Amino acid sequence: MERGLLIVLSGPSGVGKGTVRKHLFEHYNNDFDYSISMTTRKQRAGEKEGVDYYFRTREEFEDLIENNGLLEYAEYVGNYYGTPLQYVQETLDSGRDVFLEIEVQGALKVRKQMKEDGIFIFLSPPDLGELESRLIGRGTDSVEMIQKRIQKAVQELKLIQYYDYVVENNSVDQAAQKVRHIIESEHLKVHRNLRHFTEIIEEME
Ligand code: 5GP
Repeated sequence: MERGLLIVLSGPSGVGKGTVRKHLFEHYNNDFDYSISMTTRKQRAGEKEGVDYYFRTREEFEDLIENNGLLEYAEYVGNYYGTPLQYVQETLDSGRDVFLEIEVQGALKVRKQMKEDGIFIFLSPPDLGELESRLIGRGTDSVEMIQKRIQKAVQELKLIQYYDYVVENNSVDQAAQKVRHIIESEHLKVHRNLRHFTEIIEEME
C-alpha cells in the first residue's frame, strides 16, 4: 500500500489559511483527512473540543513535547500550537492523505522532516501587487509603523522559497479549488504510480 501524502497549507498570519481550510472541508468531499491541532489558547465561542482543536493546558502540552508526541509545534502570540504525531503517522500508514493547516515556523519544521511525503502550499495575500499600498493604508499610521509592517510582510513572503506551490487567496473558493487540484496532480505523478504500472507490465510480459 502506498503511504498517504502530507499536505501542508501555510502562509503569513492573517492571510486566511483557516478560512480556506474550513471552506475546503465544508464544501467538498475530499480524499484527505484534517489533522486536528492541539493548542493552549483559550477556546473561542462556538469552538468544539476535538473538532476545532484539542484544548490543553501548558503543562499537558509540554508533557507531550517531552514525550515526542508532536510532529511539530510552535509558539504563536503566547500560545502553543502543535500537530499530534500519532494521528498523522497512522493515517499516512493507512494510505490516506493528511491535511495540516499551520503557521510558517511549524511548516518549516515539517519540511525538514518530511521532504519526500510532504506537499507544501503557501497561501499568499490577495492582490500581491497592491500589498505595499494596502500596508501604507489610509495614512493614519506613523511612517515607522508602516515601515515595520512592510518589513514583516517582506520577511513572510521570502519564506515562499521553501514551498512547492503558491496559491494567491483572491477568492476563498478558488483558493480551495486550487488546493484540491494540487493534491490531485501530486497523485498523478509518475513516480507515485510506477509500482502499479510496473506490476501490470510484468504481468503482461
Ligand atoms: P488561531 O488561534 O487563530 O486558531 O490560530 C493561530 C495560528 O496558528 C494560525 O496561523 C494557524 O494556522 C496556526 N496553527 C493552528 N494549528 C497549528 C499547529 O498545529 N501547528 C502550528 N505550527 N500552527 C498551527
